Amino acid sequence: MFKSILKIFFLFFLILAKNTFAVEKNSFFVSTSHPAASKIGGNILAKGGNAMDAVLAIQMALNLLEPESSGIGGGGFLLYYDKKKNHLTFYDGRETAPSKIKKEFFLDNEGNPLSFFDIAVGGSAVGVPGLLSMLEIAHNDHGLLNWKDLFTPTIKLSENGFKVSSKLHKAIEKDKYLYLFPESKKYFYKNNRPKKKLSMLKNSNFTETLKIISLEKSKGFYQGKIAESIVYAVQNSPIKRGYISLNDLKNYKAKKREPICGKYREYKICSAAPPSAGGFSILQILGILEEFDLSKDQIKEDIHLILEAAKYSYNDRYKYLGDPDFSNIEINNFLTKKYLRQIAKRISTKKRGGSNIKINNESFIPTSTTHFSVIDSYGNIASITSSIENTFGSRLMASGFLLNNQLSDFNFKIDGDLFKNNIVEPKKRPLSSMSPTIIFDKNNNVKMVIGSPGGKSIIMYVVKTIIAVIDWKMGIEEAVNFPNFSIHKEKILIEKNKFDDEYKKYLLNLGHLVVEKELNSGLNGFEIKGNLIFGVADKRRNGLAIYN
Ligand code: GLU
Repeated sequence: MFKSILKIFFLFFLILAKNTFAVEKNSFFVSTSHPAASKIGGNILAKGGNAMDAVLAIQMALNLLEPESSGIGGGGFLLYYDKKKNHLTFYDGRETAPSKIKKEFFLDNEGNPLSFFDIAVGGSAVGVPGLLSMLEIAHNDHGLLNWKDLFTPTIKLSENGFKVSSKLHKAIEKDKYLYLFPESKKYFYKNNRPKKKLSMLKNSNFTETLKIISLEKSKGFYQGKIAESIVYAVQNSPIKRGYISLNDLKNYKAKKREPICGKYREYKICSAAPPSAGGFSILQILGILEEFDLSKDQIKEDIHLILEAAKYSYNDRYKYLGDPDFSNIEINNFLTKKYLRQIAKRISTKKRGGSNIKINNESFIPTSTTHFSVIDSYGNIASITSSIENTFGSRLMASGFLLNNQLSDFNFKIDGDLFKNNIVEPKKRPLSSMSPTIIFDKNNNVKMVIGSPGGKSIIMYVVKTIIAVIDWKMGIEEAVNFPNFSIHKEKILIEKNKFDDEYKKYLLNLGHLVVEKELNSGLNGFEIKGNLIFGVADKRRNGLAIYN
């Protein structure tokens, strides 16, 4: 009786507040950045599918509905918790550099890296896509439902048409490059104008692609007609011809790796291992902050400490991290208590520290990428961040989907002691910031699942949410809504129009160079408290969380 009253109450609550809710623990839950994708995931779970089945169906839907952010032309990282085996696996579907790549392709006549958009737009920064290989490996490991059936909802949507979201419409309107690519122009424009919000969009090329992959799995993508269309698009790009070959595609394989886990206070935080810097940076920042008392009575003061800790951590990232298959850096040496305590001692609570990162060729903060979180009624959990890098990736389309520009996440020139391990090389994976994260309490029960888009700021958004929940004792919704902040070169960024003057003054007084910016996170996740799951989809990305 009490349970059903509770359910009615929460259903009512859902109707009132669509991007946030609480639900009993043995229910399922999905949070993505697109309402229709969340619903597709929810339907799969309602049919008895598990979290992995939902991941595959949602990701195909997002490719169609939120094409500017992620898709099979890109890559991603998946952290999957198998409840029965009590086991966590990290799937690495990061793009690789084509075998013909040379760093010189990305340098100007003086040997300096080209500007971001000179690198990102067109064929030269397209990495070998990794998403589909990753999904196939993960679905073989965990999926319950038939691979083919998980494509049906998106095939139907693609065939019958779907409404252009306001996010997609705005992205087309804002983009300066998309219309320079005939295939993309044909799809995203009508009569030379961006397709309108809520206008119907059909994608017959993508429908065909989905049909092929639904039958042939990733082989149908990495070989044959689709592979040929990718190679053709890249090698004949109207801007900057690229280097991907049929062999690059045929040889691609996603990898299973150990996730990176570490302790923060009484919790175990697990996240993406290299080739993402995500987990490493999150654990470093939290490890440094563990030396301080953080609390909701001193949020301003804590933000200063988080920013200072982050500065040291980003510096280590630039110094040491890269594709683990290409370097033998022992990253655990930089995560020891002793090492992090030494850094903490150098941080002043009274003023901004001097150790700023001097980066010359990084001025762009991307707004692409997507994160989604799923829990099924069996208790399996997926935390996945997926990306084509920049908004609309390279802007090149093949077989109905956009191709990534992920090679722009490489560095192209060593700068003093920075970037050595992230210089582009054939078959190497570029360093990422994507941070799909799962947190366990001291009894090894899942406490929280989170992740976000946001380029290098992903790490800061996720750290903010973790601290807000663990130290500032906020509920997950309040934590996600709390204004974002990040660092960029020698500046600190704070979310535009969200912080009280009091915060700005405090940070300026400590000597920080404060810049206000839209910091457009997409923190989609949930927190488990006792017998309830509290879910949230970040309003900044128009997300939707659903449950049964
Ligand atoms: N390419 C970025 C990375 O892998 C993600 C871009 C974004 O979040 O917008 O770190």
